[in-house]
Amino acid sequence: MKEIILAKYGEIILKGGNRPKFERMLIDNIKNALKNVADFKISIRQATVYVEEFDEDKTDIIVERMSKIFGLVSVTRAAVSEKTVEAIEETAFHYLGKDLEKPARFKVEAKRSDKTFPLNSLQLCIELGGWLDDKFPNIVCDVHNPEITVKVEVRDVAAYVYIDEKKVRGQGGMPIGSGSKATLLLSGGIDSPVAGHMISKRGVTVDAVNFFSFPYTSDRAKEKVISLAKILAQYTSKINLYIVPFTEIQLQIRDNCPEEHMTLIMRRFMMRITEKIARRNGSKALITGECVGQVASQTLSALDVTNAVIDMPVLQPLIGMDKIEVIRRAEEIGTYETSILPYEDCCTVFTPKHPTINPKRSSIERTESVLDIERLEEEALAGIEIIEVYPD
Ligand code: ATP
Ligand code: MG
Repeated sequence: MKEIILAKYGEIILKGGNRPKFERMLIDNIKNALKNVADFKISIRQATVYVEEFDEDKTDIIVERMSKIFGLVSVTRAAVSEKTVEAIEETAFHYLGKDLEKPARFKVEAKRSDKTFPLNSLQLCIELGGWLDDKFPNIVCDVHNPEITVKVEVRDVAAYVYIDEKKVRGQGGMPIGSGSKATLLLSGGIDSPVAGHMISKRGVTVDAVNFFSFPYTSDRAKEKVISLAKILAQYTSKINLYIVPFTEIQLQIRDNCPEEHMTLIMRRFMMRITEKIARRNGSKALITGECVGQVASQTLSALDVTNAVIDMPVLQPLIGMDKIEVIRRAEEIGTYETSILPYEDCCTVFTPKHPTINPKRSSIERTESVLDIERLEEEALAGIEIIEVYPD
């Protein structure tokens, strides 16, 4: 019996004349994600991606990799059957036998896109359901509350059989590459990796920038950021990570500006420097992980002060979420455990005791103007280390 992987795409279906272009991107992204994993054949028909002719022992890893590809809403392994009722029954018997031996409530759902198949969907459900009921004495049919849903899809060249509950949920979204590029300000915290994931889910290619304060922040803090970028790269395939030396800027702010303005002036430097990097790498926007009211530097006045220094859209996808929701997302995408490792971020090292919570642009501009902003930025840009990050 032959097993293949079927994956369904989501939003691409809403595209009109451009659909083949998005389908090609999706296929390229899947090929890229699987290129070091297995040899296989891939095709796309009727909003479904078919991956076949791979080594059996590679099935799990292929499913796992595909479940991280933006654009797909589900990934499932399925048995291939000839398009006759008898063949479908035999295939279901052999492929699903182990699952149907134990007592369970079950139902059959059939879909027939090949209208020349002699039974319609309902007739096929009834026929296969009755047949399985006879063959497996421990299962009972329950169409309202099944534990096992046997799916049959009668498609163009073959029929496919699988258990719906074993289907793996995909990421949804749009294929990477379909939505230009943006640059993520990636700290070692919980929020910014989630923000990066949310925007890349819309098909946007992401590069990342981290501000690093050696020796105040340790090499392990840097390793942590690289690890986070690696996890994100599982979804985006590759991330260029720019590590920007930030110590001199932070020391200058600490020594010359009012303590209560320290965080905001720091954030303004981060935004200006990231904008310069973003313009060089072809990005159309910046991404940050801010949520309204989460900390003093994220009140609406503070966000106004921070965003005022750049002339590029700032995408803040977490803006209306609360921490619990963000943590749940971080767990789902796999960044949470790394984010909570205790190595300090450059912002935490230089935190004022009583930060301003209602800042005005004019007063921050005034206190920051004692610094040689241009020189500090140029020096930071000159010291950048670029790391190409790939998934493990
Ligand atoms: P996170 O959990 O992402 O660190 P946070 O709640 O700690 O966020 P802040 O420290 O105020 O918030 O930072 C707000 C945003 O600024 C972050 O989400 C991130 O996008 C960016 N940022 C903060 N520190 C850094 C850093 N060291 N390097 C790059 N970006 C940073
Ligand atoms: Mg932080």
